[in-house]
Amino acid sequence: MKKFFVKPEDREGEEFVVKGENFVHMRKVLRTEVGEQVELLAGDGKVYLCEVSEILEGKARVRILQERENLADPKLNITVYQALPKGDKFEFLLQKLSELGVKKLVPFESEFTIKKPKDKAERYKKLAEEACKQCGRSLPLEVAECISFKAMLKEISKTEKTFFAYEIELDGSLSVKDMLEELKEARDIALIVGSEGGFSQREAESILEAGASAVSLGKRILRCETACVAMTALVSLYLEN
Ligand code: SAM
Repeated sequence: MKKFFVKPEDREGEEFVVKGENFVHMRKVLRTEVGEQVELLAGDGKVYLCEVSEILEGKARVRILQERENLADPKLNITVYQALPKGDKFEFLLQKLSELGVKKLVPFESEFTIKKPKDKAERYKKLAEEACKQCGRSLPLEVAECISFKAMLKEISKTEKTFFAYEIELDGSLSVKDMLEELKEARDIALIVGSEGGFSQREAESILEAGASAVSLGKRILRCETACVAMTALVSLYLEN
């Protein structure tokens, strides 16, 4: 079934008014007609089964037939901090982390990342919305602007639990099993993954000083996108189930 985004304030009684770019998508792109049933995602944790009742100039009126809780919405607050990777890997991650129920993806600069990230905010927003519709969430993954390493440290120091994927085993490194054990009661979680070049020793130390726990994802060195998806999948699937 066709899915469209609306905002809670677009609701008028037992109808939604679909307008702006959502209307363009509904009418001009997907050629939706009066009488068709569609699903609306209003970002309020519900899915609305609706019927298009009227198409006017620049907007459509859509009658609510049924509303239900959206079980595909993330129940936890997982933020992934990913040191900006090369090429289109960030777009791949954006899609996979959407499917895995991450709330926010924050790219950051580190010593071994490219220095000037391109501003692709509009493209990322569009990709996150597409991924959101594909996997059935009602609120897209939020993609933050690329922040500095220092800003990332400041943010994680305020998070309930932060885990840092680090391939070098330290005295206090956690195994995956330890990490999941520590996470049991947490609701606000941050995960940190490096880019292709990883982190310098100085950076790793400051991440630990900011309160993160180092986690080993095994004896093999994973590519950054593998590490990011694997770590997120473990945390998200374990906690959601
Ligand atoms: N610094 C390394 C190098 O250049 O050989 C590897 C960096 S690795 C390709 C990219 C990121 O993935 C790392 O910064 C880390 O966050 C994560 N990672 C890869 N393998 C890992 C492992 N076995 N355990 C924990 N994290 C890992």
